[in-house]
Amino acid sequence: MAGEAQADCVFCRIVAGEIPATVVRKSERTLAFRDISPQAPTHLLVIPRVHYPNAAELAAAEPAVAAELLVEAGEAARAEGLAAYRLIFNTGAEAGQTVFHAHVHVLGGEPFTEGLV
Ligand code: 5GP
Ligand code: ZN
Repeated sequence: MAGEAQADCVFCRIVAGEIPATVVRKSERTLAFRDISPQAPTHLLVIPRVHYPNAAELAAAEPAVAAELLVEAGEAARAEGLAAYRLIFNTGAEAGQTVFHAHVHVLGGEPFTEGLV
């Protein structure tokens, strides 16, 4: 059922403490931890504790949790000392999504010379 933990989901397993992660920030409904394969000097993932396959589905079903995800992404970036950063929501395999539990990437620590859009 939507919102329920999935046994085969790596991020649900991190929330449950079954897979270790370098957690940098926790809130009642979210968790922020370092990406295992960083693509920038600072690369965090912020996830809801509840399982939804992507950020848009999370926002549609539980808008307060989606808002908390963004607040926590900003707070985590600030705590990392990032003056500027990118938030990325890959949605769909063709867009590079590999973990189908909603998450936002927080990328920073190097100058971004090119805009993606
Ligand atoms: P996506 O490509 O789905 O937007 O991003 C998934 C991210 O999760 C990838 O950047 C990948 O490196 C990260 N990731 C996958 N498995 C793990 C894990 O077990 N621990 C951590 N910390 N990150 C993971
Ligand atoms: Zn999950």
